[in-house]
Amino acid sequence: MKKALITGVSGQDGAYLSRLLLDKGYEVTGARRQNSQFDSARLHKLGVASDIRYVDYDIGELESINHLIRSTEFDEVYNLAAQSSVGSSWEQPIYAADVNGVGVVRLLDALRTYSPHSRFYQASTSEMFGLVRTVPQNENTAFYPRSPYGVAKVYGHFITINYRESFGLHASSGILFNHESPLRGSAFVTRKVTLGLSRFARGEHIPIKLGNLNICRDWGFAGDYVEGMWRMLQEDVADDYVLATGVTTPIREFVNYAAEALDMRLEWIGSDIAEHAIERKTGKVAVKVDPNFFRPAEVDSLLGDASKASAKLGWKATVGIREIAAMMAHSDYDDWWS
Ligand code: NDP
Ligand code: GDP
Repeated sequence: MKKALITGVSGQDGAYLSRLLLDKGYEVTGARRQNSQFDSARLHKLGVASDIRYVDYDIGELESINHLIRSTEFDEVYNLAAQSSVGSSWEQPIYAADVNGVGVVRLLDALRTYSPHSRFYQASTSEMFGLVRTVPQNENTAFYPRSPYGVAKVYGHFITINYRESFGLHASSGILFNHESPLRGSAFVTRKVTLGLSRFARGEHIPIKLGNLNICRDWGFAGDYVEGMWRMLQEDVADDYVLATGVTTPIREFVNYAAEALDMRLEWIGSDIAEHAIERKTGKVAVKVDPNFFRPAEVDSLLGDASKASAKLGWKATVGIREIAAMMAHSDYDDWWS
């Protein structure tokens, strides 16, 4: 039985990856933060909470990481732990650097010392492309991160490559474009929209306040993306891969797709900070722009080219953004559990 360790097991990807690995017969160990109320809601939602073995750790403490890696000989280690909110990273830039950047080298160094045969996955991100240098973005595109989150992730990405090249670790970095699901954190724009619209559809007529609606993202489904993570670690040679759908969509369009799934029709009126959407049946404002949600620096548009993952891993995204919006909106309408 293969043994896998997942940091960030309580998050969206941690839940989907746990389910995938358990289905494949792995023994899954989930590392959970010491000193935090462990939130297992997503793991319960996917029915895997009781099949995971849990260990406590602190990604900020070298000794804690060393102990974790020494405790079991893991075949595969997936580092999903992160201060994952780009918006919050401006409020906690040093914390973001420590968890998303230095945390990665703590794990890699423990692996080098105590478990050099473990395979390692680093959760890198399209946020590293930031102010994009080329369209679409692939593994060779230069990085220009636009947030403390993105800057820290660039360090995590390159230290993963460096440990692979310096010490021969089987360490791969997945440059994943945004991926969503009904388990997405409620602070991310897609889930904020589907939660807000489903409340509206149930009669709670409070407008959702959003930032810049012109932003475009290449959004995929988290279930597809964890499959890509696993495929990376099954390769004989470690490498870096972009996972993306190859389609980019403005936020306004995502809102329309979610509304459509809830049988609502929105009429967009006004521009810039005066822009808002009226829901036709009720005549009430369902969405409005609030400059408080503008970011100090933006990543205006991302579009990924996953042809390397397609050619080498046989991976491709199978769920489009319209379907994802409907899946999330229906889930939130039926039962909002968070
Ligand atoms: P989530 O926000 O859903 O989960 C983040 C996980 O990290 C949670 O388990 C959280 O644990 C844990 N975490 C937060 N702070 C710490 C800390 N100080 N020490 C240890 N663990 C911590 O993120 P996702 O599942 O969506 O993303 C997984 C990874 O993939 C992250 O690294 C993210 O940056 C990256 N990524 C995600 C993308 C996406 O679109 N989803 C795109 C590209 C990369 P707790 O429950 O204790 O808070
Ligand atoms: P990110 O791509 O990892 O930052 O994922 P998010 O879902 O947090 O944000 C995606 C984009 O949506 C960013 O460019 C945000 O500026 C934009 N956005 C617009 N309004 C909002 C909002 O109300 N909340 C969030 N989180 N993002 C918003």
